[in-house]
Amino acid sequence: MNRLASIFRVFSPALVALCFVAAALLAPVASAQRRGGAAQRARGAAPVRQPEVARMLREIDARNIERSIRKLVSFGTRNTLSAQDNPARGIGAARDWLRDEFERASRESGGRLKVELQGFEQQPGRFPRIQKPTRVTNVVATLPGAQGESAARVYVVSGHYDSMCGSPTDAECDAPGANDDASGVAAVLEMARVMSKLRFDATIVFMAVAGEEQGLVGAYHFAEQAKKNGTNIGAMFTNDIVGNTLGGNGVRDRRTLRVFAEGVPTSETEEEARTRRSVGGENDSPARQLARFVEETVEPYMPGFDVRVVYRRDRYLRGGDHIPFLEQGYAAVRFSEPNEDYNHQHQNVRTEGGTQYGDLPEFVDFAYIAEVARVNAAALAALALAPARPSDVRILTRRLTNDTDLQWAAGKEPDLAGYEVVWRDTTSPVWTNSVGVGNVTTHTVKGMSKDNYFFGVRAVDKQGNRSPVTYPRPLGR
Ligand SMILES: [Zn+2]
Repeated sequence: MNRLASIFRVFSPALVALCFVAAALLAPVASAQRRGGAAQRARGAAPVRQPEVARMLREIDARNIERSIRKLVSFGTRNTLSAQDNPARGIGAARDWLRDEFERASRESGGRLKVELQGFEQQPGRFPRIQKPTRVTNVVATLPGAQGESAARVYVVSGHYDSMCGSPTDAECDAPGANDDASGVAAVLEMARVMSKLRFDATIVFMAVAGEEQGLVGAYHFAEQAKKNGTNIGAMFTNDIVGNTLGGNGVRDRRTLRVFAEGVPTSETEEEARTRRSVGGENDSPARQLARFVEETVEPYMPGFDVRVVYRRDRYLRGGDHIPFLEQGYAAVRFSEPNEDYNHQHQNVRTEGGTQYGDLPEFVDFAYIAEVARVNAAALAALALAPARPSDVRILTRRLTNDTDLQWAAGKEPDLAGYEVVWRDTTSPVWTNSVGVGNVTTHTVKGMSKDNYFFGVRAVDKQGNRSPVTYPRPLGR
């Protein structure tokens, strides 16, 4: 790494020139290839493929996912307002079954997964769909990080185990919720099972939340508690409606997963907004960096599978459990299938005019959900193996210059190897170039004006694991 970095430093201007020549030559090829970043990704920095992660992904089994979904559907309804204490029907039965399943995974991992019920009484007033005091319980399984300097850094992956029929407040109707969102919960459960057998530097939280259909109630509770406790959540993924591969538009697509990532941060302050209006950055929120990281990281593990980044917080008329995390200033994105079928979401189970309505298991694709679980697990593993993304990254604006001066705070991980500066044209959706700069906390990019490119910094460890990119804030005087 260090030797490579010094080579990069010495030849940096020549390399930059070469990159631009190569970029010009390759541009038509790149545009002819599939949408997204793969063809135009940061040159000189191939994403790593760790053999133990690849092995772990092969362990993800669609049969376990099918079993979980059929079991969750068997509880009849999982509406948050349904029975809490009936062992056969209602959300309480689902909650207890999920706790038992996470505990089983924990036993198989030698007890490393810590399972708890995060329950609370939601009072009426805040959420219109909660009209009387209601017990809401998140099922939370934590895999503690194995590296002291990284264990306080937490990555959260969730699905929601509550369901609804046509009416969100009907606690009695059948609400199988096979896709919305037993699919996401089953994927999370399978991730917990395979990932808890490995060691990661940082901590991973596998979670099944309740109250999503009542207004993201469980996720709000978790995110607000985390903020209050000062928990350092490095990233959050929600998996919601990740199981259907035949859209209402008739399109069958088993090789695409959408990742919804907001641009302007939900939590942006007025001061941050002023900076953004002045110098840009609306395409460089922590959520966008996270989405780019997922797309780039998953590629070598799942060639041909398209992680399709969508530049918006969520779909029209819809929200999800990532939003409470975004509101607290955490980087969070939502995964969803490529083409939805609204006949099988939020519908009473019935046949009408020869059409079957309802969120039933026959309309989900278990093998596809296994792929979704692999996308999540590959990205989570990369995040939890890599150093933290650089903090306090600044672009210095003390002087008017055609160079670009960057600085950042030193990371504290013992396996930290150094940093990479990345950049792209301001019109490019993905990072296109990178250069290793060694284990330093400042770097000047000679001959490249900060006015003409976007820059970022990421950390790299000795095994080649890279953090997501941090986008710099300006620092004057
Ligand atoms: Zn949902």
